[in-house]
Amino acid sequence: MENKRYQKALTDPIFQVISMAATELGLEAYVVGGYVRDYFLERGAKQDIDIVAIGSGIALAKKVSQMLPGTPRVTVFKNFGTAMIRQGDLHLEFVGARKESYRADSRKPVVEDGTLEEDQKRRDFTINAMALDLRQESFATLLDPFQGREDLKKGVIRTPLEPGITYSDDPLRMIRAIRFATQLGFEITPASLEAIEKNKDRIRIVSRERIVDELQKIMAADQPSVGLALLHNTGLLEYILPELTALRGIEEIEGQRHKDNFWHTLEVVDNICRATDKIWLRWAALLHDIGKAPTKRFDTKIGWTFHGHEFVGSKMVYSVFKRLRLPLNEHMKYVQKLVRLSSRPVALSDDHVTDSAVRRLIFDAGNDVEDLMTLCEADITTKNPRKQKRYLRNFAAVRKKIKEVEERDRIRNFQPPVTGEQIMKAFNLKPCREIGRIKDAIKEGILEGEIPNEPEAAYRFMIQKGLDLGLTPSGEATQPNKGGL
Ligand code: ATP
Ligand code: MG
Repeated sequence: MENKRYQKALTDPIFQVISMAATELGLEAYVVGGYVRDYFLERGAKQDIDIVAIGSGIALAKKVSQMLPGTPRVTVFKNFGTAMIRQGDLHLEFVGARKESYRADSRKPVVEDGTLEEDQKRRDFTINAMALDLRQESFATLLDPFQGREDLKKGVIRTPLEPGITYSDDPLRMIRAIRFATQLGFEITPASLEAIEKNKDRIRIVSRERIVDELQKIMAADQPSVGLALLHNTGLLEYILPELTALRGIEEIEGQRHKDNFWHTLEVVDNICRATDKIWLRWAALLHDIGKAPTKRFDTKIGWTFHGHEFVGSKMVYSVFKRLRLPLNEHMKYVQKLVRLSSRPVALSDDHVTDSAVRRLIFDAGNDVEDLMTLCEADITTKNPRKQKRYLRNFAAVRKKIKEVEERDRIRNFQPPVTGEQIMKAFNLKPCREIGRIKDAIKEGILEGEIPNEPEAAYRFMIQKGLDLGLTPSGEATQPNKGGL
């Protein structure tokens, strides 16, 4: 049977340029991998294009660059035999066709030149192993020796070679299989799943950065639980996030059971993904209960408890981020904060919500208070529709209250309404502990609603607090508008 042509996949003029460059060099060139896959999936034209040359990929890249307006720079990775060109959003990667063989202790293969089919064989999945011909005479012909097109239609993740070999050669592929299954909603073949389970401990030779790249793609999917469950069921999650697998299981003592916090967490993650694309808010959902494993106790009077799990969990966030090479910056602090505060709105929503409790919540959560509410709403996984409705209504009331209180009291970016300098002036003080105590008292007074968040009221309150502490006001103390107000 004649192979079909897919001219529509290659309408971008760049493909003609590459084709001509290849002809001039007397090379064959093909588009492979994700671009071809995503064309058939109608995922929208991909800007990352992988090109395989039979011969030197680097030479082809250089030729292509010369033929492009402005001769864009070619970045060469000599060790890998690859070259890269960026032009606007377009990102071209060139490689020479190769065959590979692997050693047991490394993901890095021994590489030799190969044919197109040998190159396709070493790719991870059949759906990523399709190639479109860029030769003039057979332009846009699909070369699909492993029936990737069929697998795309069926929604199947399958390896071109025997799965045991594919995964053992490069264990990163295990997580990639799960990542693609999650992103695309595909099934991994039973033989592949079996091979992944068998090879799971080889994940140790994969760098954490690569693992996390894939994990981030799973977390960015519509339903990360698909991937997280696969990682768990294959045994891989134990290596990557043991803090999560530790939440697995239900214990029963004296007829009292707690929920399975692992499966609960997965539901929370899916819930939050329906509400937000923010990746770190999704991470907060993923990690919000990790403190429950180390804090779990059984109390004969009250049953299962997880006292302080929010605090313990937020401390654990650091070690998770560090181990996974996630950024130890404001993103981590944000996740820590949300984990630490994750139960606060729950306590608030018990029928009567006081203004002062809301002010404290806004004070502690700052600009992340809405995200915190989103997390709490996602945390509702009860299967009882009446309860679910009640919780949601409660949180809606808290959100409303947050808005009202914030409009009135502006707590979100709280700045002390009286400065330390003003306090020093008012009582003729040098820097000392009393200043901090007075500042604290003012903050407390505002949060408790004893005084409004306004400079004049705060100033009067400050004078009173100073007098209470036995301080003597200076001559300027009765003039609140002096000293920088
Ligand atoms: P994405 O859209 O997520 O970038 P992609 O298919 O382009 O998906 P890349 O990681 O960019 O994924 O890899 C490009 C191509 O290289 C893949 O389609 C696949 O053919 C091949 N490939 C990538 N990683 C591996 C691997 N670990 N083992 C075998 N082949 C791989
Ligand atoms: Mg890619």
